[in-house]
Amino acid sequence: MPRSGATLTEDRRSANKAKHASPANVRLASHNKTRVAYFHDEGVGNYHYGERHPMKPHRLTLTNHLVLKYGLHDKMEIFQPRRATDDEILEFHAADYVDFLKRVTPDNQKEFEQVFQRFNVGDDCPVFTGIYEFCQRYAGASIEASRKLIAGGANICINWSGGLHHAKKCEASGFCYINDIVLGILELLRYFPRVLYVDIDIHHGDGVQEAFYTTDRVMTVSFHKYNGDFFPGTGHIDEIGSNLGKYYSLNVPLRDGIDDEQYIWLFKAVMEATIGTYQPSAIVLQCGADSLGCDRLGCFNLSIEAHGRCVQIIKDFKIPLLVVGGGGYTVRNVARCWTYETSILVDTELSNELPSNEYIDFFKPDYQLHPHLSGRVENQNDQAYLFKLRERVVEQLRYLDAAPSIQMQEMPPNIQGFLEDGDEAMREAEEDSELGKDTRGVAKARLENEWYEDDYDNDGEAMDSVWHKDNSAASAADDTTM
Ligand SMILES: [Zn+2]
Repeated sequence: MPRSGATLTEDRRSANKAKHASPANVRLASHNKTRVAYFHDEGVGNYHYGERHPMKPHRLTLTNHLVLKYGLHDKMEIFQPRRATDDEILEFHAADYVDFLKRVTPDNQKEFEQVFQRFNVGDDCPVFTGIYEFCQRYAGASIEASRKLIAGGANICINWSGGLHHAKKCEASGFCYINDIVLGILELLRYFPRVLYVDIDIHHGDGVQEAFYTTDRVMTVSFHKYNGDFFPGTGHIDEIGSNLGKYYSLNVPLRDGIDDEQYIWLFKAVMEATIGTYQPSAIVLQCGADSLGCDRLGCFNLSIEAHGRCVQIIKDFKIPLLVVGGGGYTVRNVARCWTYETSILVDTELSNELPSNEYIDFFKPDYQLHPHLSGRVENQNDQAYLFKLRERVVEQLRYLDAAPSIQMQEMPPNIQGFLEDGDEAMREAEEDSELGKDTRGVAKARLENEWYEDDYDNDGEAMDSVWHKDNSAASAADDTTM
């Protein structure tokens, strides 16, 4: 069995050393240490895909409820995000598709049946009341969170309602309609030269990979079940990107039943190698909770602790981080998992006994934060297979090392114009113009965006005040701190 070098218990112990000692020093600590911003839209949990549909937005209400009951809101800034505007959504999505989402309702859907197939709307992605508003809410949160990171107003931003990684430019897919991750990353690219996307949902992060398949300014890494058949059918290890993006898509295809120790070992090895080589200036982490054991649609054996360990591993790199949700279909475990991961991000240890709350019946019969979730599915990942996977990853990363190294620009132009004009235009422009050359490659400079306890305060404060001044009109009402 591969070993990560440290046991789960040891890792947790060292993580807890940094936790805040008492409520009195929270404010001080938030300025000396990691600053976390939490984006939660009160209404986002009130939409319904349909009674039998496995996607339950209510899991977001449940998660937020546990976060508050555990008192985690005292350790971070809470924001009620504004909804994404049409123009923001059109930065990635096609106008006719967005227009369809805005107009279709359960009552008038018969009129639109001729385009259902084109937009892939139907059983998996049903029409429901408020569908576009729902998208605006979760996407608005990811966009706002990205801006907060750019402004230096936080080191870590959390949006559990986001992470809808399957949505495509012109169509819905896998319960996802608007791809908030792509929109968030496009926002981050206005400032950050290189963005790393990491996906631990059990499904391949196909929508995000596809959106950035031909650019080296975004590297995507997805850990998922793959057998060619499992949804969405992509995520083979040979999908590595193309043109300028060749080698900048990384896929880690796993088999049924992977356990905690294996997953953490592989995740740590892959991410250390990737981050060391690519040196991202910002990271987006998709925390789909359908990779947990006992998920209604999943088939891994991960515990909540192991899932959270991946979050800890990424957090420890101290690179500006946007954390989003994703899949997760056993609602009670999704809420447990994302609450636990919120606690990791704010360096706070939680009692295993869930606090009493109005939704406590969801957590029967154990009422614990860490129920036993493993062992339901036979583990088909053997040691030899996992070693082979790691080898392949290291091999692919060697090509990144060999990529031309171009000095990092402080404020690279954004690539949104290329996306608007279609993929072909983007490819041509990136190949022909100086833009691609100026901003790609592995920067030699030490990352300016890494935060350090010593020098962080001044920079962070300065950036933050600029942000609040420039956006006062828009954010005064929206950035409501609870
Ligand atoms: Zn999923």
